[in-house]
Amino acid sequence: MAFAQISTKKDEMKYKQRLELLDAHCHADMLSDEELDTAMARGVTALVVNGVDTASNMSVLGLNNRTGIFPALGIHPENAAKINKEEIEYNINLIKANSKSVKAIGEIGLDYAFAKDENEKNKQKELFKRFVELAIELDKPVSVHSREAIDDVLDILENTGIKKAHIHFFEGNAKQAKRVESLGFMVSIPPMHSAKRMDAITALPIANIMAETDSPTAGMHIYDIDKSVMLIAKAKGMDFESCAVAIADNTKRFFNISVHNLIRRI
Ligand SMILES: [Zn+2]
Repeated sequence: MAFAQISTKKDEMKYKQRLELLDAHCHADMLSDEELDTAMARGVTALVVNGVDTASNMSVLGLNNRTGIFPALGIHPENAAKINKEEIEYNINLIKANSKSVKAIGEIGLDYAFAKDENEKNKQKELFKRFVELAIELDKPVSVHSREAIDDVLDILENTGIKKAHIHFFEGNAKQAKRVESLGFMVSIPPMHSAKRMDAITALPIANIMAETDSPTAGMHIYDIDKSVMLIAKAKGMDFESCAVAIADNTKRFFNISVHNLIRRI
């Protein structure tokens, strides 16, 4: 429903009660309970929390009993060079054993700024493929990290045939954004402005966009999620409310989550 269509005070109240702010990618296991409470009090209704290694995957699972927290488990590409086969299998089994509560496989992906050489890039690619295959096997979406590697990331995702992929902290240009759209994938946008990212958002339909903070990794707070929504709204020429509603719908559909504790922003 667009804001302009609201005709009565009653409709407006009902509409505002629907407004939700969902963070499609963060690391809330690294935050205190107080920070999480502040975020929820400031209007954030749901978080998809990503593990990056064995210890954080365990912590993320431990957060699962909090309302509005949805776990994603994976191994970050920065850990590809040092993780051994046994530990990879341990994490795969952990994900399988918790597949009911795990909403996505992530954080996984490629980070060529971190890889020292071709050998490390290849290790990242191998690990990434292994977890994308796991996601296909478990019928889960993937939450993908890409730094200086977007073309290879999209090639791997396309070749595996996965249908539900989400490129977080999208770094691509408008042309790469169009490729994301043609593959039927999603991006999520952090609360950090760049001209390149604004061009990419402009090139994408709103149906392919979610909002995130990556908190605390990029120095952002979870409650900064409204800044991500504002950036998206600006690039798409939408008002904040209708943009927030569209993004919330996209996020719930992509991760197959339902959010019950709707926040009233009145
Ligand atoms: Zn992350």
